[in-house]
This record gives sequence, C-alpha cells and structure tokens, in this order.
Amino acid sequence: MSTVPLWREIQRQNFTKVRDLAHFLQLSESQIQELDETPAFVLNVPQRLAKKMQKGTLDDPLFKQFVPLKKERLEAPGYLLDPVADMQAKRQAKLLHKYEGRALVITTSACAMHCRYCFRKNFPYETKTQTFEKELEILENDTTIQEVLLSGGDPLSLSDLSLEALLTSLSRIRHVKRVRFHTRFIMGIPERITDGFLALLQDYPKQIWFVIHANAACEFDADIWQALKKIQKLGIPVLCQSVLLKGVNDHPDALVELSSVLIDHGITPYYLHQLDPVQGSQHFEVSENEGLKIIAEAQKNLPGYGVPKYVREDAGEPSKTILG
Ligand SMILES: *Cc1c(COP(=O)(O)O)cnc(C)c1O
Ligand code: SF4
Repeated sequence: MSTVPLWREIQRQNFTKVRDLAHFLQLSESQIQELDETPAFVLNVPQRLAKKMQKGTLDDPLFKQFVPLKKERLEAPGYLLDPVADMQAKRQAKLLHKYEGRALVITTSACAMHCRYCFRKNFPYETKTQTFEKELEILENDTTIQEVLLSGGDPLSLSDLSLEALLTSLSRIRHVKRVRFHTRFIMGIPERITDGFLALLQDYPKQIWFVIHANAACEFDADIWQALKKIQKLGIPVLCQSVLLKGVNDHPDALVELSSVLIDHGITPYYLHQLDPVQGSQHFEVSENEGLKIIAEAQKNLPGYGVPKYVREDAGEPSKTILG
C-alpha cells in the first residue's frame, strides 16, 4: 500500500522542464527563443496552473508569473539579491524577526510552484535539518512574540506529520496567541487540504489565520474555492495578498475582478504589494504612481472591505509602508 499522499503524487507531475511546458502550450520556435531554458530558479509549475494558461501566447497572466524568460538575466540598478533585507532580520537559520510581536518561521524551501518575481528566490535556505529546535527556543524565550508566521518556501510543502509537530510545539508557548499560515500552495494543488490537515487545524487551541497569495482571478477554480471553504468553516479567517505585476494585474479591471471573486467567497483582500525589486524582476515593475492610479480607479467599483492596502516593504522599517 502506498503511503505517499495524493497531493505529493500530483506535485511530482509538475512541469519542471521549460521545453515540455512550451510544447504543452503549443509555443512556436520563435516564442521559445524568448524563454530561459536553464534558469537558476528552476521552472516549477503544477499541471493545474499550466492547464489554465492560454495556448500559443506569451501574453497570459499565468504564463508570465511562472515561466522564466531570458529577460530575467538582465541586471538593473536597484534590483538586488535580497531586496527586503531578510538577512538582517535573521535570528536563526529558519527564523526572521522584523516586526514587533510577530516572528516568521522559514518552514521549508519548497513550494508548489515557482513564481518568477519571488523576493526570496535567492534565500540561503537551510535544508539539512527538518526540525525547528533552535527557532522554537528563541520563540519560547522571547515573550514579546504573540504571533508566529509560517512561511518559506511554502509551509504546506511540509507533511501533515511535520506540521503537527511544529504546531504542537507552538501551542505550548503561552505568549504565542496566533499562528498565521502564509501559503500559495492551494492555488496550484488544492488537494493539499487533506482531512488530516483539516483535523490538525480544527483541534488547534490557538487562533489560526490564513493568508493565501493570488494575483489574478483566473488562478482560481471550483476545487480551490472548495478547499478554502473547508478552512473557513473551521472559523479560520482567510485573507489574500497579491503583488502588483505588469502584464498580470496592472489594470483596475483586473484588480476589481480579483477582489470581487475573493469577497464573493468570504476572503478579504489584505495587501497589494509593490514589487520587491529582486534581481531579474524589472520586467514586472509597475511604478508606484501608476499603482496609486490603478487602485484609485479600482476602489470606485468595490466595497471598502474589498480594497487591499497598497504597501511596499522598506528594509529596516518597523512595518510595511502604506502607499497613498
Ligand atoms: C511582512 C512580514 C510580516 C507580517 O507583517 P504584517 O504587516 O503583520 O502582515 C512579519 N514578518 C516578516 C519578516 C514580514 O516580512
Ligand atoms: S509560492 Fe511564495 S515563496 Fe514560493 S516561489 Fe512563489 S512567491 Fe516565492
């Protein structure tokens, strides 16, 4: 009998070779010329996402988010390896502490998909150990920390067993009142929301928050909504954060559509992030001036709770910076 969960089997079928995906998408040789077939941050795209990409074009909001272009090799002033100064916030190999009351655990390097604009794509992940002893020790000894963020990588890349061990340890730290998942996994592999995982959440003695990451309405489908609903039904608030990306969502209509499908499913748009200037992402850049105009336009067509906070992360600041 196989003990490998279904979602891991699905993950194994991810596209990891640019050629394979290009052929699946019926791209021409001249289109393939624009792709980077050997990117440092490798291709990683679940079948579910690939199937949602329009065939025969490079001009698709999903394609742009996940498929490496030769343009990524360009360097530009101000585009850095560590644009948000994660390295200065490191208190342990797998613990970042930037903001008062909140600390972030780098639970794993793995993700369901690789986003080309990822600000952590150069992060020197510690992958030798799979436990969090030193990190937990710091959390235990620092009574100022009330909330622990599980990030990465993607925390849902961990097995239910590993998550259970981590959550149990956190539940024993009295001053930690909240645990927040930051995850994009469901957008590629909603099968990850297993009964076992839901049982873990259901029994948890502290408040859990979920922040998903999606940038365009076309990323969602019925299976994804259903998986999210199962989490919501446990009394866990689900929020969504997005990144403003050229060619993906840099139009008021795109943002209105994204916010609308989210609030139609009881999910609150939380942050719209200005792009973190990570090396090789300059083709995604939308200026802040333009961003402010897009948001102002979108706001006219949304209820107040449907408008995300437009923010930028400035290295060294005590919180995200609200723009506008
Ligand atoms: C963004 C971030 C947080 C969370 O900030 P909120 O404004 O509370 O969402 C926490 N820790 C780190 C290291 C972050 O980058
Ligand atoms: S899922 Fe998140 S951590 Fe993983 S590549 Fe995408 S943006 Fe980066």
